[in-house]
Amino acid sequence: MRRAIYPGSFDPVTNGHLDIIQRGCKLFDEIIIAVLINPEKTPFFSVEERCDILRAVVKEIDHGECVLTVESFAGLLVQYAAERNANAIVRGIRAISDYEYELQMALMNRRLGPGIETVFMMAHEAYSFISSRLIKEVFSLGGNITGLVPPSVEIRLQARLSRNKIKGAS
Ligand code: ADP
Repeated sequence: MRRAIYPGSFDPVTNGHLDIIQRGCKLFDEIIIAVLINPEKTPFFSVEERCDILRAVVKEIDHGECVLTVESFAGLLVQYAAERNANAIVRGIRAISDYEYELQMALMNRRLGPGIETVFMMAHEAYSFISSRLIKEVFSLGGNITGLVPPSVEIRLQARLSRNKIKGAS
């Protein structure tokens, strides 16, 4: 049983994340998509919302025989991975700029949990410039993000933005 953890903020999930998940499906029997609970960051969507969005979108993608599970976690990633009996951590690499940080994390995680391998995957080049941060920025400025996130994410972003505007006006 090859089980991997794909950790991240997923605030919100993008087509780049989904591309990595689909590639991972060819390598693993199960991928646990783990939404990090980070009290230091103020997210756009709550952890519960991000998990709900992810659960809905992963149902729509072709995942072959691979089981996709979504949950949230806090604390040390290697500890969480060990609790879940996972053998691997999946991370996506977009550009060299990601590599430095990812290498540092992977080596620290190897030191903390020698039994767990980090597997780096490259998304399709069509998605390599996408980050959740940029999606939120472009969308809030009125830019078109169609094709970069699943349609349901665009709807959720629109709803959140309209709510914020109403809040701001009252
Ligand atoms: P973080 O919160 O660590 O910045 P995210 O939660 O956005 O990262 O993403 C989780 C993982 O997915 C990270 O390994 C990140 O590099 C990867 N990732 C994010 N966007 C893309 C993309 N467009 N293509 C490939 N990998 C990506």
